[in-house]
Amino acid sequence: MSKSFSFHISANDGRARTGIVSTPKGDIRTPAFMPVGTAATVKAMMPENVRATGADILLGNTYHLMLRPGAERIHNLGGLHKFMNWDRPILTDSGGFQVMSLTDLRKLTEEGVKFRSHIDGTEYNLTPERSMEIQRLLGSDIVMCFDECPALPADRARINESMQLSMRWAQRSRDAFGDRPGYALFGIQQGGLEQDFREESAEALEKIGFDGYAIGGLAVGEGQDAMFGVLDYAPNQLPVEKPRYLMGVGKPDDIVGAVQRGVDMFDCVLPSRSGRTGQALTRHGAVNLRNARHKDDLRPLDENCTCPACSNYSRAYLHHVHKAGEIIGSMLLTWHNLHYYQELMQGLRDAIAAGQLDAFVAQFHATRAQGDIDPL
Ligand SMILES: [Zn+2]
Repeated sequence: MSKSFSFHISANDGRARTGIVSTPKGDIRTPAFMPVGTAATVKAMMPENVRATGADILLGNTYHLMLRPGAERIHNLGGLHKFMNWDRPILTDSGGFQVMSLTDLRKLTEEGVKFRSHIDGTEYNLTPERSMEIQRLLGSDIVMCFDECPALPADRARINESMQLSMRWAQRSRDAFGDRPGYALFGIQQGGLEQDFREESAEALEKIGFDGYAIGGLAVGEGQDAMFGVLDYAPNQLPVEKPRYLMGVGKPDDIVGAVQRGVDMFDCVLPSRSGRTGQALTRHGAVNLRNARHKDDLRPLDENCTCPACSNYSRAYLHHVHKAGEIIGSMLLTWHNLHYYQELMQGLRDAIAAGQLDAFVAQFHATRAQGDIDPL
């Protein structure tokens, strides 16, 4: 196994690429989807089952873990991998985005962000230096720079000011991270929907130098057309030989469109969160298992899916356990949704390797356009 962090691209198809991110804790096949393990668990899933769906890497949330159980505690307990029984790579976010989205009482300064915990009101001070320290204490393999991003729409002045601050914080994050062989630090491009700001941000980050580059500040309410508009140029502004990570994306069709535009890594709560609310994400689009049409339906959710929910249970059963609020309902649909996402990523990787991405994407959209099977 590799002792250092590296990225190797094995094939290109148009702007899309497939390859391997190597880390001392294992390889990550790209394009990759990272399930979200917010509070040291992918909700409703055992870690070995997450692995069985095909996940090479998980995402952990710095904000949640620093509040509970605490970064120093996790460090003293042997680190996040041991704590949650996942020995493969983990990427952690910087905490910045969630401080902005989950806390009401906060104060943003050049130094960082002061905020009160949404759990017990305790005051915290999160800075680029403290974010690097927390992610080191957790034992994260891929560490994200501490950044700030405005909700969209925002005016150009606000977006520029925020991007400039994030670039100063990127330098401070780089300095605080230091030299840690085998661990990676990713910079985060900002600039909203403004091409010139995105270019300036990419240049600033490349000058500092990172192991990978994220495209931040998207999937914050701008819509798919606007997001794809940015992805038509943003990945090409970043170094071609480093992994590119689109944060917080997305729906299956968002991911497919972003892979076509040159993105390598993704994370999103959608498949796990939807699984807990009765929504299945399938080749034929979203299916709401809580709908009464499934009440007497003995057919599987997807006859071509090999996950436990589709192999061993009927739509009628999945409907029943979701209506009854039974825990197995969350378990089965989360498993199915993560299985579907990983199967989609494998399909994208295979198609890029074979130079067949356009045909794969056409089939993807044609299957979705058919919609769900007719009711009984
Ligand atoms: Zn399934």
